[in-house]
Amino acid sequence: MLLSVQNLRTWFHTRSGVYRAVDGVSFELARGETLGLVGESGSGKSVTCHSLMGIVPQPPGRIESGTARFDGVDLLRCPPRRLRSIRGKRIAMIFQDPMTSLNPYLRVSEQLVEPLLIHEDISRRDALARGLAMLEAVGINDAARRIHFYPHEFSGGMRQRVMIAMALITRPELLIADEPTTALDVTVQAQILDLIKKMQRELGMAVIFVTHDLGVVSGLCDRVLVMYAGRIVESAGTRDLFHDPRHPYTRGLQRSIPALQPKGAELFTIKGLPPDISKPATGCAFAERCEHAAPACLAAIPDLLPINATHAHACTRAHLGEI
Ligand code: SF4
Ligand code: MG
Repeated sequence: MLLSVQNLRTWFHTRSGVYRAVDGVSFELARGETLGLVGESGSGKSVTCHSLMGIVPQPPGRIESGTARFDGVDLLRCPPRRLRSIRGKRIAMIFQDPMTSLNPYLRVSEQLVEPLLIHEDISRRDALARGLAMLEAVGINDAARRIHFYPHEFSGGMRQRVMIAMALITRPELLIADEPTTALDVTVQAQILDLIKKMQRELGMAVIFVTHDLGVVSGLCDRVLVMYAGRIVESAGTRDLFHDPRHPYTRGLQRSIPALQPKGAELFTIKGLPPDISKPATGCAFAERCEHAAPACLAAIPDLLPINATHAHACTRAHLGEI
């Protein structure tokens, strides 16, 4: 396994209470695999990724428990220097807003060569050549001229490509993409997804793709984890997740994807709001919004239990065959 996360708990200790943003998350990722991390905002997807990257602000955040072994090294306990040498070289991250990773005051050429000069024994000239090749690979036209542009001289979609080029220039083994297409219009979104797919194939890297939009993962991911209130509520191969979703929350998400519904059908929305994660859960966190909720659902927090080798979910009633 390239990455093995066990029982990760990341909580935020604030004046108004303890927010259990990630509360017992475990998953594995093989080399070259693409994993979708899906859920509403606040479900713990980003905090899970930030925990792996060592970028959770501590305090108020705190990693309460868990391990995250990347090629054998526990990212959660790794000395900062070692972590910095892994992050930015072997693990890269891209965000919804490219300006999170791009420096507005530096030409793109400078930003592209920087990780290479830090992490590799390479001359500036060779680094620039690699930067140029990478800009071409992500579909920037006239790259030889535009490599000298500043970030603001690119359009939103092009900036996203520049950020991807920067993330991939060290040929990372793992790319964490946190809603990288959410702010883009549909056409550009499709282009960026295609680009990530293409680069994934070319570099053979593993990808964790974070999104609130279940529709986005179908063409991209091998496997999907559905998160709700800091926990994984369903885990399955993408095909299984779309054809045989078991958890009522996953079913709700699926029924709210326009492209999957019959023409003219009314689009489903999951009513209600996510629970207050500053109150420790005692039963199923989805119960308040679940049309199948029964008293038994509130008796204990449902475990994520397998129904076969590749599919697991955390719905008590579905496990009992009641729904
Ligand atoms: Fe709904 Fe109960 Fe299943 Fe939770 S455990 S998703 S409340 S049926
Ligand atoms: Mg997020």
